[in-house]
Amino acid sequence: MRLAARLVGQRWDRSENLVFIASYLADSINSECGFSRTKHSESQFMRPLSQRGIIGHSSRVIGHSVLGAPLEVFECTSTSAQALIFAGIHGDEAETTLLLSRALRLLSPEQLASDVVLALNPDGLARGTRGNANGVDLNRNFATTSWSSDPTCFRWDREGNRDVVLSPGVSPASEPETTALVKLVADRSPSIIVALHSPLECIEEPARSTVGAWLSLQTGMPHVEDIGYPTPGAFGAWALEQGHSAITYEMPNDQPFRMIEAIHQPAVISLLCGKFPR
Ligand SMILES: [Zn+2]
Repeated sequence: MRLAARLVGQRWDRSENLVFIASYLADSINSECGFSRTKHSESQFMRPLSQRGIIGHSSRVIGHSVLGAPLEVFECTSTSAQALIFAGIHGDEAETTLLLSRALRLLSPEQLASDVVLALNPDGLARGTRGNANGVDLNRNFATTSWSSDPTCFRWDREGNRDVVLSPGVSPASEPETTALVKLVADRSPSIIVALHSPLECIEEPARSTVGAWLSLQTGMPHVEDIGYPTPGAFGAWALEQGHSAITYEMPNDQPFRMIEAIHQPAVISLLCGKFPR
């Protein structure tokens, strides 16, 4: 009805209708699965619109990038976080940082129940490169049993071959961004860790969990055990080997951001507020 009204209305706003269609499709998918998607109305949030230009949570510096940028964690006020959520480990996935930042800025410090790292690879985000300033793919630099010194490759275009080369580092955990995250996980010992990536549109989790299944239902994205090719030295594999439950949340990037946010912000806010099934 709302869409039809817009179609015959005085003003055609394509992006608004895309957001509406995206929300409708997400609700339909979840309805078919017998699941009701989490709703977040403006009244649920304590921060008024006028205050959302800045982050209202205190941060702690957990290290520095190769070029000296501070690596920050926004910690919840509780001594134990419900989850750790981080974005921007790949510098060419800036939409992950934007989505997480906008969700975080909706919440007051009292509402935040998880720890948040907005930009794990600030040098890569500033340069627009997947790797850090040393040309290392940080998501191949963790000290897993499978870590390999062989170059790692990625796609220049989504449809292309994986023939763009990066280094996995000179040794496991050779990069300051990697060691900062490893230390944060050791310090806070989160039971759930969610790494935001794009653009593969799936919830990837080698050891399926209730949270992963819930995220799949929330977003309409498939819940998969792998992404179809080896990823030696990836954070998810490292976390699993260390006994943590880690989820790789691959959001899309080929749609208007408003449409992506309409589908994915409710799930991210639920993670931030600790409101998800265990
Ligand atoms: Zn990525």
